[in-house]
Amino acid sequence: MVEHTVFLGLGSNIGDRAGNLKKAVKAIKEHGLKVERVSSVYESKPVDYLDQPDFYNAVMEIKTSMGPHDLLEIIQTIELDMGRKRPLLKGPRIIDIDILMFDDLTVNEGDLTIPHPYMKDRMFVMLPIVEIRKNARFPDGESIRRVLSRLKFETDNVRKIKDLDLR
Ligand code: AMP
Repeated sequence: MVEHTVFLGLGSNIGDRAGNLKKAVKAIKEHGLKVERVSSVYESKPVDYLDQPDFYNAVMEIKTSMGPHDLLEIIQTIELDMGRKRPLLKGPRIIDIDILMFDDLTVNEGDLTIPHPYMKDRMFVMLPIVEIRKNARFPDGESIRRVLSRLKFETDNVRKIKDLDLR
């Protein structure tokens, strides 16, 4: 059985943000996905739609034999089970789970784009990936570290939360 290496991004900015991320990690395990690594939690200022609370974000590396579409279905089930309702696109959410990378696969379909289209611009995704897998690369061969070095680090926008372990 072929096992794929997948990076998932998690985010929450409603209610008990740490509790929501922990619940999501637990649900991911309960759905049979093998959790290899989990980053620290980073608190980040919202992007795009700015008038909403700050987020807690984290990244995890999982192993699964599932394909990308089946995996998308599972993460959407988890989001719904956790009570996610989101009337506003890019607005506040209890939980957001994104497929960031899936092996060295590139997918460009209506409902699924991999690597996740905005990840290279987002410090709150790039920092935690480098933390858990510093030699990771994009399908085009570009290293995560190189992309990160292009981003302007503003401590006001992303900060690591100490002593919060999601595993
Ligand atoms: P959002 O929850 O706002 O990130 O967006 C959810 C929608 O994005 C879903 O309808 C998915 O079909 C779509 N989508 C496209 N690419 C991805 C991806 N790599 N990971 C998660 N959702 C994705």
